[in-house]
This record gives sequence, structure tokens and C-alpha cells, in this order.
Amino acid sequence: MNKTTSLEGFERQPLISAENLTVDIAAGKTNIVRIVDNISFNIGVGERVALVGESGSGKSLTARALMRLDKMARLSGRVDFDGTDLLSLSEREMSRKRGSSIAMVFQDPMSFLNPLMTIGDQVAETLRLRGVGKAEARKRALAVLDELGVDRAAERLNSYPHEFSGGMRQRVVLAMALVGEPKLLIADEPTTALDVRVQDQVLDLLDDVSTRRGLAVLFITHDLGVVAGFAERVMVMYSGRIIEDGDVSDVFAEPQHPYSQGLIKAVPRIDQELSTLFAIPGAPPLPSARPDGCPFHPRCDQRFDRCYKELPQLHVHNNHGAACHLVDGKRG
Ligand code: SF4
Repeated sequence: MNKTTSLEGFERQPLISAENLTVDIAAGKTNIVRIVDNISFNIGVGERVALVGESGSGKSLTARALMRLDKMARLSGRVDFDGTDLLSLSEREMSRKRGSSIAMVFQDPMSFLNPLMTIGDQVAETLRLRGVGKAEARKRALAVLDELGVDRAAERLNSYPHEFSGGMRQRVVLAMALVGEPKLLIADEPTTALDVRVQDQVLDLLDDVSTRRGLAVLFITHDLGVVAGFAERVMVMYSGRIIEDGDVSDVFAEPQHPYSQGLIKAVPRIDQELSTLFAIPGAPPLPSARPDGCPFHPRCDQRFDRCYKELPQLHVHNNHGAACHLVDGKRG
């Protein structure tokens, strides 16, 4: 797939393009388990894309593969970033890209922060590791904490993580990611551990900062409800593959894949009684035991003969597509 993504009438240049990206993990001495299976996608400059799926769908490992964070994972395919294939870089070259080109924030800020280091030192550390002088690194740490709305940031440079609330800690983690001025931020379930009010604040903040900086964001979540207000495009993942890709408004208005249809049906509505909440029956297959044909077929109420035998491919046309034989059939 080599499409450029379009938004508000103009074509975006791809910032990052994954082509046939595959992630294999060794299981025991001889077995290899394929966690991410041959996926291709682009993220445009400044684009906000959500990667959605149930736990175990492969979304976090996909994101970590873009940054080559898992030393035990075997990666294949290509990941082009600004004209360089990240998978062919040496570890030393790749470590320079982390933070300065691509940065990541995780779900639980407390597990990421060092309780024994001041906030100022932790935010400045990314720059210090790249040879920036102490005073300059602190000045830039202060500027980014200010930008992210940390109250009395100058004073709080000397505070420790336990002196911050959950929402403020997530701002600090975001500051650590942004201080190196990356072009792509990967946010892995960054709001999951927060209460709903703080979730909204963090999403608003991400929205502001990505617009102001022209920052592309890959937002990973299992919660389709979060996607609607933040992302421009959504990729739905199931059993290690991207099974739907489209503009958020198109996917919400007309989901093509039965799995996406189920996920959207399962988003709770304010006028809905708890007893009528929809859930997709069954569970995703283990990566080591995917069924033949479409991996969703055991859970799909629209399956037919072809689904048991043939793996459907994702074809994106006019910025929307799904890996489902029903969609292929409609296209003739
Ligand atoms: Fe369902 Fe078949 Fe489409 Fe898979 S390919 S989602 S089983 S209809």
C-alpha cells in the first residue's frame, strides 16, 4: 500500500510508512509466534491516527516495533521515516532517532518516572543524553512544562513525581517525550489509567500540542469512544492485522468490517440501559492458534464458505477499506 492520506482537501506527505511489517517472538527454544502479521500503513505529517483493538490484537507491539523497543522481537519488512528505513539502522543510529524523531508515552506515568529524580532532571535528561548543556537542557525542560500547562513550572522543576497528581504526572511524561521535538508521538493508552475528567484534559492537551507543533500522533487505545474526539483517521487491528483503515467520520458512519461494526455497537451510549450493552461474542484467537481463512470467522455472524479458507486482504480506496470478503464482493 502506498497511499498518501488526505485531509481537508490537501494531500499529506507520509511521515512514516510501514510496509509488510511483521513482528515475530520466540516461544520456547524452537517455536516462533507471529504477533504482527505483514501490515502496511502510512501516517502523514501532522496527522492524528488511532490504532484500535482488543488486548492482544498486536497494537502495542506494532507501536513498539516502529521504535524497535523490544530487543527479543524479530522484525521484518520496512519502516520508512523521513526517507530512512528504521529497520536497517544500527542500534546506535536508532537510539538517536528515539526522542528526536519518534517519541512514546505509556499508560502508567508512575512506572515510567524515576521516584528519586526531580521532574526537572527527568525532563532534561533526554537532551543531556544528546550532549545538550545542563543550563540549556533545564531551560528547554521548563519551556515544555510551561507549554503543557504545569502550574508554577519553574518552582516545580525541583519537585519529585509523588508530589504530582495523576494528570500532572502524565503531563510530565508528555514533556519528557516532547522536549526532544519529535515529529511523531506514539501514545500507548495514555489515558487508560486516568479518571474520565483527567482523560479529557489529557486528550485536549494532546490535541492542542499536536496542532501547535504540527506533530503527528499515533494514539493506541482499546476504547473506540476516545477515538472519535481526537483522531482524524482510525486503523482497527485484529489478531495481528489491520482489518479496517479509514477517516474517523467514515468508519463511524459506515464501518465496513463486521469486527469494527461490533466495536462501534459496543460503545456505550448515554441513553442506553446497562442490560442492553452489546458485546462481540467469543474472544480473539491466540497468535499461536489462528484459524485458517479470516481470523475473525469464529466470531463473525456474517461469515460464509470463503471465510473459512481464504485470508481476506486490506484494500484501501478513497481513504477507506477493510479486510473482509464481503467488502471484496461489493467491489466485484
Ligand atoms: Fe466475517 Fe468473512 Fe468478513 Fe471475516 S471475511 S469478517 S468472517 S464476513
